[in-house]
Amino acid sequence: MRAWSVVMPGAVEDGGLRLVRKPVPEPADDELLVRVRACGVCRTDLHVVEGDLPVHRPGVTPGHEVVGVVAGLGAGVGGFTVGDRVGVAWLRRTDGTCAYCVRGAENLCPASRYTGWDADGGYAQYTTVPAAYAYRLPGALDDVSIAPLLCAGIIGFRALRRAALPPGGRLGLYGFGGSAHLCAQVALAEGATVHVLTRGAAARRLALDLGAASAQDAYALPPEPLDSAILFAPVGDLVPVALRALDRGGVLSIAGIHLSDVPPLHYETELFYEKEVRSVTSNTRADGREFLALAAEHGVHATTHTYPLSRADEALRDLRAGRFDGAAVLVNDLD
Ligand SMILES: [Zn+2]
Ligand SMILES: [Zn+2]
Repeated sequence: MRAWSVVMPGAVEDGGLRLVRKPVPEPADDELLVRVRACGVCRTDLHVVEGDLPVHRPGVTPGHEVVGVVAGLGAGVGGFTVGDRVGVAWLRRTDGTCAYCVRGAENLCPASRYTGWDADGGYAQYTTVPAAYAYRLPGALDDVSIAPLLCAGIIGFRALRRAALPPGGRLGLYGFGGSAHLCAQVALAEGATVHVLTRGAAARRLALDLGAASAQDAYALPPEPLDSAILFAPVGDLVPVALRALDRGGVLSIAGIHLSDVPPLHYETELFYEKEVRSVTSNTRADGREFLALAAEHGVHATTHTYPLSRADEALRDLRAGRFDGAAVLVNDLD
């Protein structure tokens, strides 16, 4: 088969990501072989390709927002048949036995492994996935629409649940990119009042189009106190800003993997009255299943921009340069 391979981590222009020939992978006993139909392009793929993340598997094939069909089954797999449509996401394996896994927090498993980093992902004609970590996909959504939901969507959803928004509550979203605009759609469908605080004028327009009650600059004070806030922008300076916007007992959830340093907090105005700050780490499979069901029910959709899979390098260059709005999705043209 043909697959993209990170031959030498570095800038995409330098040619370290190459379209190569690899054998079609053999699924392990507990895995599915998946023929890739579409694969979303996530910023983490760029970090893998350019070497911002350490190499976990030399020559890895990136891609962890994979929509495909089952093309083969490991000897020990039940419950799937050839032809089933499945999704493959970032969380690839956990040990299932540590204290975190046992208490339902597999997102914290120290032995977790990730698609497109520890194992070959979806920038290829075929990939594999442990059957227990494959998602069954709702029929209502097409391949391209569903791909960005598998990372950006699931993470935004976990951040929303971590923010503990009460029913009908007032939610502030700081930053409004791919993950936030999907999260907003779920919150609105569940009856929240959503206030968006972000730098970009285009993002503010999109927020209002989707039904946000207000959209202002990131450092502005929202028009009413917030029950919950989610920080999507990787900007630590916004932590005290968001905390001051919270009502008594409010929760701030920080969605990103990276955050610049948080300035000193003022206890009385930013933390007292039982305000809380929480981080978000990866996701559990339960988050993924719940989010995909809600996405289908409420018609959650990402703005997408498609590229043929044979031009994955171009998609990554355009992502880095900010040349498109919404999420890039690679459509398999290699078969
Ligand atoms: Zn991702
Ligand atoms: Zn574990």
